[in-house]
Amino acid sequence: MQNATLVESLVGLDWGLFINGESVPSSDNQTLKVYSPANNEVIATIAAASGQDVDSAVQNSQAAFSKWSKLTAYQRKAIIEKATGYVRTQADRIGMLMALEQGKPFNQSRSEIIGSCDTLDYYAEEGIRVEGVISPTEANNLRSMIQYSPVGVCALITPWNYPVSLLSWKLGPALASGCTMVVKPTTETPLSPMAFCVALTEGGIPAGVVNVLTGKGSVVGEGLLRHKLVKKVAMTGSSNTGKRIMEVFAPSLNKVSLELGGQCPAIVCEDADLEQAAEVIIYKGIRNMGQSCSSVNRVYVAKAAQAKLVSIMKAKAEKMSIGDGVTDGSVDLGPMVQQSGVETVKEHIADALLKGATLVTGGKEPEGEQYEKGNYFLPTILNNCNSTMIVMEEETFGPVVPVESFENLEEAIAKANDTNYGLVAYAFTKDMATTFRLAEALEAGTVCINNGKVNTNYAPYAGWKDSGYGVELSRKAIFEYLNTKHVKIEF
Ligand code: NAD
Repeated sequence: MQNATLVESLVGLDWGLFINGESVPSSDNQTLKVYSPANNEVIATIAAASGQDVDSAVQNSQAAFSKWSKLTAYQRKAIIEKATGYVRTQADRIGMLMALEQGKPFNQSRSEIIGSCDTLDYYAEEGIRVEGVISPTEANNLRSMIQYSPVGVCALITPWNYPVSLLSWKLGPALASGCTMVVKPTTETPLSPMAFCVALTEGGIPAGVVNVLTGKGSVVGEGLLRHKLVKKVAMTGSSNTGKRIMEVFAPSLNKVSLELGGQCPAIVCEDADLEQAAEVIIYKGIRNMGQSCSSVNRVYVAKAAQAKLVSIMKAKAEKMSIGDGVTDGSVDLGPMVQQSGVETVKEHIADALLKGATLVTGGKEPEGEQYEKGNYFLPTILNNCNSTMIVMEEETFGPVVPVESFENLEEAIAKANDTNYGLVAYAFTKDMATTFRLAEALEAGTVCINNGKVNTNYAPYAGWKDSGYGVELSRKAIFEYLNTKHVKIEF
């Protein structure tokens, strides 16, 4: 289908909740509007779930659990792989919904749908490798076996920046391990995760295994956390919301995994390949309009390399194309999700400039009629920054990369670690001893040296400090959805 026809077929629809394989209105008929970040016009109406809807979704999920958890891992693998095969055929439609509601250009949105199917397939494979242990024991008539069983109904709570990908990191291990789930996307980007989950069910995941409730975090999210049948919560979002979730869910003593905010440093040593460093920093700092937990939020560069690095970064930032990724899916950057995000970016830049930073490029909205109604902002680089500036301390969550120089490596490491966050750290050097010093000293769940390839299905993603609790991705994540049982038999 041509893009314009596809867009026309997707805009202006009323969306229900998705419970037990059916689209239903909220029990009290409450609705919310979804807005386009490209022009701030309404693109859809969604149902706002009530407490009664939360109960209905959880009860249906519990009923589905009694069957889904009884299938063998091999049966689940076959069903999941068939379902993702179908979802891939829907990638244009779901990707376009993401472009419409999130602002992420269509090509990137579509890739996110395909990548999310790959993640589900990865976990379908891992599901058949959840091996227990048979240990030697202290007596010949004793046997000791460790085995695993799915926890039950899971609440999967997701943010708006990667609405489907971050959901797939939870759906994948939950489905493969035999759990059932209630998904709660954000009110900003509910459509693509909803369409993804509906397509999974159309593709063969049994009704009731994946349910979706749209609505406010305080009502739907907390309703799920307080429901006695919910045995696990997996959430990605801000650190403050993560702490609130921990507090509300604590009395149940059930499983929790949280992927939270970041303030990710990048250290560029004097001997680094500056072209490569600039490429990674600009890609990671600006892509998705800087609305990424793993964005490069602060650059520390050796004094002798500062001028050259900044000039290469400037050239790369100014080359990025910006526009409405719905009408031109190939642009590098779309609008930011919310106008309030643009205001935060402006505040952080103003604070830095007041405290002595130099504006290298950007710092304002792009000019032109096509940008007037949307939440657009130019890729921005700030030089000569220091730790008194908000942009060096808080998560700006916008297309801003601040740069500060350092005199020696130990100073750079100390500055990089001087934060409450510990999600990702980047470093660039050609020296092997420096590589190991950085890899071991940087306090973050992921350290990328000479690259920006943060997330892969096969490696764990775990935030240190205020950046998270528990693990997502990799084989390890599946154990976040399983209860451990030690069976000891005497005969
Ligand atoms: P947010 O914290 O505002 O919301 C996240 C989700 O939590 C939403 O679905 C929201 O409705 C829900 N929620 C809000 N209050 C709740 C409550 N009281 N109980 C239960 N659920 C509640 O986050 P956001 O603004 O959507 O996303 C941006 C944040 O996410 C940034 O801080 C970013 O760094 C972080 N993030 C982290 C990762 C990671 O993997 N570490 C990845 C992407 C984004």
